[in-house]
Amino acid sequence: MTPIAVLRHAPLVRVVQFRALTIACSGGGAATASTVAVPPPAKKNKQDPCVLVGMSEPEFQQLALDFGQQKYRGKQLHNLVYKMKAKEIQDLIHVPQAFRTELMEAGWNVGRSPIYKSVTAADGTVKLLLKLDDDRLVETVGIPVDNIKGSPRLTACISSQVGCPLKCAFCATGKGGFSRNLKSHEIVEQVLAIEEVFKRRVTNVVFMGMGEPMLNLKEVLAAHRCLNKEIEIGQRMITISTVGVPNTIRRLATHKLQSTLALSLHAPNQKLRETIVPSAKSYPLDAIMEDCKHYFTETGRRVSFEYTLLAGINDSVDHAIELAQLLQKWGHSYHVNLIPFNHIEGSEFKRPYKKTVLAFSAALESRKITVSVRQTRGLDAKAACGQLRNEFQKTPLLEAVAEEVQEPELEMTAVAA
Ligand code: SF4
Repeated sequence: MTPIAVLRHAPLVRVVQFRALTIACSGGGAATASTVAVPPPAKKNKQDPCVLVGMSEPEFQQLALDFGQQKYRGKQLHNLVYKMKAKEIQDLIHVPQAFRTELMEAGWNVGRSPIYKSVTAADGTVKLLLKLDDDRLVETVGIPVDNIKGSPRLTACISSQVGCPLKCAFCATGKGGFSRNLKSHEIVEQVLAIEEVFKRRVTNVVFMGMGEPMLNLKEVLAAHRCLNKEIEIGQRMITISTVGVPNTIRRLATHKLQSTLALSLHAPNQKLRETIVPSAKSYPLDAIMEDCKHYFTETGRRVSFEYTLLAGINDSVDHAIELAQLLQKWGHSYHVNLIPFNHIEGSEFKRPYKKTVLAFSAALESRKITVSVRQTRGLDAKAACGQLRNEFQKTPLLEAVAEEVQEPELEMTAVAA
């Protein structure tokens, strides 16, 4: 049970004679009501701290009540965390200093990480490296699209893990190895960081950054809830991507989210797929297609198939025809998103020529498969699809390096095209 759940479910004994009430946050430990005038300082558990990011408004209200504050302080906290982007407890400027002090003493923090580095590509795409509590870095990307039918979009491409264990052949993240799953607040804070940098709201979220979301489904679902309910990003504006992890698509379908499932296919048959996505060995293509069909039946949301085009590997017209046949066999309401490979250092794969991409796309369209070719964004900032990687995936920042960034400044480095 989470500390928040403990706070919600454990009735607190209120002793009116004593004002001092300390709700200790001890990383999974029970909340306690202290009746001593000067409470002993509560220790924060660094492994599992109590954080505000991720909480709902009723939970903020309960937190305020538990600290002897009035209920409306909860609404203020909600606003300060999600709208005003407070980063530290001390930034919660609309609530009394005494309340802030008590929160800090009880081990609460906001749950925001400093921006370690920011790189801006010529097309306006911004890649951020956030420095997590344990000195690991996680990447997140903001992709602005202006004036599409008059409504500017800002897409956040967010990570669900530090690194990834699945080792897809073309993916920089997979090559860098796996470190750990992200907590839900570490997923949500990526969106807050992008809103802060762009000074506007994120309109779309895609779980297509570092990591396989289905290997961290519990935290991904908690983050999805927060993004939808607290940050008010429509479920239909959120896409959850996967290369396919057995049993998880059906599990996701039970939640009946109105979000798009993006299945990273990359090949039209099992044999070729296993060479590109090694984890495919444990999840046959037919089983994946059946589960995708089930997702559509349960949620009414179409499944999008991501297909990275690798020159000379999976990009021929014959491959396109085989892909069309596969999709037609399993139903309709499918969409194919073609992603011409983005170069990564040390990769044996090459990006296909434009005419190859167009021929592939035309072969699908002529067979009544809806298809789009993803516009490459952020290439010069190494923020394009498949390029997310950093050398700290496995190893935390060295202490000496970490010290340099204790007071991080948001450095926006323009990268030449
Ligand atoms: S493509 Fe996705 S699942 Fe595959 S290694 Fe990269 S991050 Fe992991």
